[in-house]
Amino acid sequence: MAAGDAALVDFIELHQRLFVLTGAGCSTDSGIPDYRDADGGWKRSQPVTFQAFMGDDLTRQRYWARSLVGWRRFGHALPNATHHALAKLEQRGNVQLLLTQNVDGLHQRAGSRNVVDMHGRLDTVRCMGCDHRFPRHAFQSMLLEHNPVWATLDAADAPDGDADLDGQDFATFVIPPCPECGGILKPDVVFFGENVPRDRVATAMQALDDADAMLVVGSSLMVFSGYRFAHAAAKAGKPVAAVNLGRTRADPLLNLKIEQPCAEALAFLLRDRSAAGAEEIA
Ligand SMILES: [Zn+2]
Repeated sequence: MAAGDAALVDFIELHQRLFVLTGAGCSTDSGIPDYRDADGGWKRSQPVTFQAFMGDDLTRQRYWARSLVGWRRFGHALPNATHHALAKLEQRGNVQLLLTQNVDGLHQRAGSRNVVDMHGRLDTVRCMGCDHRFPRHAFQSMLLEHNPVWATLDAADAPDGDADLDGQDFATFVIPPCPECGGILKPDVVFFGENVPRDRVATAMQALDDADAMLVVGSSLMVFSGYRFAHAAAKAGKPVAAVNLGRTRADPLLNLKIEQPCAEALAFLLRDRSAAGAEEIA
């Protein structure tokens, strides 16, 4: 066992009310690729912005065409050992709140209950005109019905249910409008260039206030919406630990840094005497 393991065990033993913040590094073992490399830079082209999505037909066609292909795999992703370990941590009574930057819903599928999806959920589609929401899998059927040719395409999986489909003529892609009002449909996630809803931030900040320490798992905290919680924790004198491969934006604020794959670093939680429960779910 590496020295880091023992330090993390101690950190969790010492701080019983943890504010946990998770990012893409939690879900890579579930086959959902990460946006950023170990230095926190973009691995690929930057994702579509809110402004481009709402303002440009071709951007939306390109987005949904790629999503149609990518969803086949993303929609079937299963929680991995990291999700199960964090669900176990909650069952032990150690989690004040789990705030996730991920949009895959895998923490909940692993059994975590006290979760705030900071950036929303990709399994829901929302109308920007009338706020009507419905399941993404139902929209997948609508997309396939209107675009049968695209159903046969395959592409490398990319983050957030996206897929690489370079060289395709996206202008031919048909996007069904909102079935209620004819408005523009958008995945119910916070896009780049869009603000996280205020009530979500307030709920999370309150939980951080009530916690005695913060644990970051699988996030480089490069996006401000995540970084601000580490900053607030440090400012309030609460210890911050991070499990992440590579640099994080909060490195100067950290009391403990574990540079290991998330599942490996948290494996001790599943080795616990009462670890049986977390395995049954999914
Ligand atoms: Zn609508």
